[in-house]
Amino acid sequence: MRRRFRLDWALLPEGWARDVIVTVSPAGTIEAVAVAAAAAGRADTDAERTDTDAERVAGYVVPGMPNAHSHAFQRALAGRAEARAAARDSFWTWRRAMYAIANQVDAADLRAIATLLFVEMLEAGYTSVAEFHYLHRTRDDESDFAPDATPATWEAIRSAARDAGIGLTLLPTLYQAADFRGVPLRPDQRRFQTTTAQFLDAIERRLAADRAADSPTLRTGAAFHSLRAVSIETIREATAQLRAQDPSLPIHIHVAEQGREVRACERATGARPIEWLLRAGVVDDRWCLVHCTHATRAELAAVAAVGATICVSISTEANLGDGFFDAVTFRGASGHLAIGSDSQSTVDPAEELRWLEYQQRLRRRRRNVLATTAEPHVGTGLWRAAAHAGARALGQAIGTLAVGRRADWLALDPTHPALVGAAPAEALDHVVFAGGRHAIRDVYVAGRRVVAAHRHPLRAAAEERYREVMGRLTAR
Ligand SMILES: [Zn+2]
Repeated sequence: MRRRFRLDWALLPEGWARDVIVTVSPAGTIEAVAVAAAAAGRADTDAERTDTDAERVAGYVVPGMPNAHSHAFQRALAGRAEARAAARDSFWTWRRAMYAIANQVDAADLRAIATLLFVEMLEAGYTSVAEFHYLHRTRDDESDFAPDATPATWEAIRSAARDAGIGLTLLPTLYQAADFRGVPLRPDQRRFQTTTAQFLDAIERRLAADRAADSPTLRTGAAFHSLRAVSIETIREATAQLRAQDPSLPIHIHVAEQGREVRACERATGARPIEWLLRAGVVDDRWCLVHCTHATRAELAAVAAVGATICVSISTEANLGDGFFDAVTFRGASGHLAIGSDSQSTVDPAEELRWLEYQQRLRRRRRNVLATTAEPHVGTGLWRAAAHAGARALGQAIGTLAVGRRADWLALDPTHPALVGAAPAEALDHVVFAGGRHAIRDVYVAGRRVVAAHRHPLRAAAEERYREVMGRLTAR
């Protein structure tokens, strides 16, 4: 059914507007946007004020945020690796704890964990997610990659997204080696392993199923775990084949997250990781490079020049002690910068954006560092830029309220204590910097309200299942 909404206030590509009529197709795509009164304010006419068959959305409506990097199963580790376990805890000691979880969950557990996580994402303002998924195998046999199958864990993620009502780009991830020069996977990494042919064939089957289903919210992309885990020759060959399957396929990779990874890459290849990847000549504007924490200015400028997106997850990078991301240089080069919840230590787009700005403030001892001349409001500017970049990373028509985009939006409650007194133009500054995330009242995906009055209807049931799974995982 085609639906019409009347938004009290909406953040459109051209800025804030009042009394906006949005027509949404049965598949959830915005077909028309009509502004009754511009924010600058001309007098409302009676005809514009009384559109009786449109469903009213009260408050301030902003685009939903795409989460461009997630590993759902890591939700089960959140908060459980914050006690010192070694004299010098690091990313690498955390990774051991993460593998312990990865090797315990089966497909049903994963579905339960992901369902609660996706409910939490929606309530926090993420309306879609790119799931970087390498937990392929549920058993030690080959049945997950039988010629007519897609792995059970892939379908578990898709089912969780469907149940929660979040948009999804599933990124099955190629993971073949423990380090540069093809070091074999360790026993605790075996669940991640596939041959290149198994990986490509399963993606081809998944893409065929996507075409048949024609879902407005679920799609498939691909990822390479990292330059440690996949050789540059394989990346080059697999990318060519993936592009042949779907020229618009989003492709992601972790790169330059750790100093140790940069040094190992230099020893193995003579080049820094981003340099090495770009030299392969495969990266284009459908790629998303995750982290890029240890990047030179020249590397960041080169990534921006090919049009690839960078996804940062400051909460995870801070939690793991990775390092600072140079957002000033990348944004200065007109780079597309998306955000993700990655390890799920926190699941909150406002927190990601706040710390993106705060990193810069702490380093430079200045305020409002990432403001621009065009958008002096840091919260608004970062929110819009990350939503736009996230849409590119997910390969979905989302990220802004415009014709042809999916109707993914958040309605903020201007009477909530965190927003009281804030004009629309200030609302996202409150959301990002001053607890205004709690003012996210209703959340819509493809024109369907999936969170009402701050709460997802599946929350209680999803929590119950999650408790049961965690009871087993922590008892072992
Ligand atoms: Zn990651």
